[in-house]
Amino acid sequence: MATHIWWIRRDLRLHDNQALAAALSGATALVPLFVLDPRLTESTVRSPRRLSFLFACLRALDGELRRRGSRLIVRVGDPVTVVSEVAREAGARLVVAEADATPYARQRDAAVSTRVPLTLKPGLTIHPPGTVHRPDGRPYTVFTQFARAWHARGVPDRRELLSAPPVLPPPPALATVPLPEPTETIPDRFPIGEAAARRQLQRFLEERLLTYDTGRNLLDGSGSSQLSPYFRFGLLSVREAWVRAAAVAQEPSGTRGVQAWLNELVWREFYHHLLAAFPTSVRCSLRPAFDRAPWVRDEALFRRWRDGETGFPVVDAAMRQLATEGWISNRARMVVANALTKVFLMDWRLGERHFRRTLLDGDLAANVGGWQWSAGTGTDAAPFFRIFNPVRQGERFDPTGDWIRRWVPELCNVPNEFLYAPWRMPLTVQQAAGCRIGHDYPSPVVDYEAARRRALAWFDGLRAPQSE
Ligand code: FAD
Repeated sequence: MATHIWWIRRDLRLHDNQALAAALSGATALVPLFVLDPRLTESTVRSPRRLSFLFACLRALDGELRRRGSRLIVRVGDPVTVVSEVAREAGARLVVAEADATPYARQRDAAVSTRVPLTLKPGLTIHPPGTVHRPDGRPYTVFTQFARAWHARGVPDRRELLSAPPVLPPPPALATVPLPEPTETIPDRFPIGEAAARRQLQRFLEERLLTYDTGRNLLDGSGSSQLSPYFRFGLLSVREAWVRAAAVAQEPSGTRGVQAWLNELVWREFYHHLLAAFPTSVRCSLRPAFDRAPWVRDEALFRRWRDGETGFPVVDAAMRQLATEGWISNRARMVVANALTKVFLMDWRLGERHFRRTLLDGDLAANVGGWQWSAGTGTDAAPFFRIFNPVRQGERFDPTGDWIRRWVPELCNVPNEFLYAPWRMPLTVQQAAGCRIGHDYPSPVVDYEAARRRALAWFDGLRAPQSE
């Protein structure tokens, strides 16, 4: 008997799974193991919605395993003890998992590998963190340079893709605990499980990929793939997604939308590489000057940002959608991150934590990267002087106003002329729209133009030489 363990962490898929393939190789029995790690399920930045999505997707994975003659084994506890206990009980001589480069995952895997033979396989990214670097071995900190070197390592090929195993060798008799019941509802737009994720990918490739370059900036997110929760938990292989999207570029009208989308997948790779190279970036600004910055401390203002009560309709729509659905578009993320850090001058780490607690796709690498980029504290960041005007953002990226009206229903009868800056409404218009500013909907928490001037002076004082 050769019993192997496939230790599942954030690779909840049977298609194109390099860890699963390695665990299956030579195995006469396979233990698909998931460990409910209290460090993650009880962390202060845990997200009940993300955990609910995870539990529901694990249940779907169990169903897929059972259809193939296997089943999911679930245990609770510190993986360092649990994985070696299960290996002992099962008589397993090999544990295989998908590599993950977050600081905690690296420390956990190093500790586990002192107890059991642990093999880590790539799959979370196309090129594993650390493999794309400058000729002298130092990490890239500028995206364009990273992307050039990333492409030079080669793009995935259809022939590399692994199909889902049709049958699986069953695990030996092992105790398993029931998965926790999901406590939060998951929006319909994110159907549960790998099969649903694959259908969503297919729909995106057929319906929206070709127009992605123009549609991606819409605030309502209707122009992008909305696949991020699936990439977050590895319900989709990013390698397979790349191959299938690149195949669309072979079609005559294909290239622009496809290239723009593939480029976002490279941004994802960049942030995973950055986190692996700079693990302290979770806590510290990549530009150290910002860690000594006198960020504004104002709990009431933070709460108004968090609760979508700032008086800026685009910011409020985004924060309310985030609270309700656990997902907002990239444009909406950039707008609210820019507002918190540049208009209100508050520490990016407050926003990063809030996003991590709230987002269905909350991912340490992409979130820290996105926040440091937006705040201008990262190495390859939006320049400090790029301060988004919330009125212009709304006019450009929600031109019909439908998205704002959906999430800020107080404004539903406000004419488009005033929708993006409702404080400019004359009293008669306020009365006609049934929306009195300062009563039915807040006055803006700051004067944008004054805040912008304050921010420019503030950032100027901090400007430090870049590390590049
Ligand atoms: P698409 O535009 O269709 O892109 C396809 C995939 O590429 C996404 O699903 C995602 O996996 C990846 N991707 C796209 N843009 C980026 C990017 N800029 N950085 C990294 N990966 C990207 N993304 C997360 O997955 N988790 C996070 O916690 C997260 N936090 C963010 C915080 C801030 C402040 C900002 C500005 C961005 C953040 N992003 C995060 C990146 C990006 O906003 C989301 O990945 C994207 O909006 C998800 O929507 P989509 O699936 O339709 O993306």
